[in-house]
Amino acid sequence: MTTLFNRFNLVKQQILQAETFAKRPIGSVQLLAVSKTKPATDIASFYRMGQRHFGESYVQEALEKQKKLASYDITWHFIGPIQSNKSKLIAHHFNWVHSVDRLKIAKRLNDQRPDHISPLNLCLQVNISHESTKSGILLKDLPALIHEIEKFPRLKLRGVMAIPQPIDGFEAQRKPYQQLIQAVQQIKNVPLDTFSFGMTGDLQAAITEGSTIVRIGTALFGEREYPAHASKRAE
Ligand SMILES: *Cc1c(COP(=O)(O)O)cnc(C)c1O
Repeated sequence: MTTLFNRFNLVKQQILQAETFAKRPIGSVQLLAVSKTKPATDIASFYRMGQRHFGESYVQEALEKQKKLASYDITWHFIGPIQSNKSKLIAHHFNWVHSVDRLKIAKRLNDQRPDHISPLNLCLQVNISHESTKSGILLKDLPALIHEIEKFPRLKLRGVMAIPQPIDGFEAQRKPYQQLIQAVQQIKNVPLDTFSFGMTGDLQAAITEGSTIVRIGTALFGEREYPAHASKRAE
């Protein structure tokens, strides 16, 4: 608990420093606590410190934690790869999705989003490292996908998300984000307000370039024992 508290304060302080360094308004960067593979009890601890936004990557694991934390006023973000057969659960149980990279998935989420809750906040995941194995849409295909998704009434298109290839060095980390922001700014007539950029390793660079949501796992929860799905040990 003390460790979580210290980590929380450290991350908050790093965000504040980066905002100041970048001459951006204090509080303009939102902290998304990435709780994948970590237990509901850790989420509850951060909640008591004031954290409200949590990110999960595995649907089944997330639903188990949501059940345990049903009485908490948490905003849930889905940030993992989306399989078609999981889109309905995502449309029903999350407030945000950061990882949409195909029209087919967007259409399913739109069609499956229940009418009695607000439209699903959505970011498009862009592949800025041009690796064929990575998920994410290529920059050249982004404008067309944006214009299609804008037509969906049950989705609220908020912005873009990116996971650049891990690289050391502040300047090197800034480059892919610069490139992406410039490209997005050239897309006309789309009111986007979200750049979901920055993880534990490149938080400063992402904020310097204009990130509005940083997705932080390790720096808050500690190392993940299993990078892959680990709900079996979630409690
Ligand atoms: C796991 C994950 C994170 C958090 O990564 P850390 O390096 O632990 O901060 C952020 N974004 C996505 C999409 C993730 O899957």
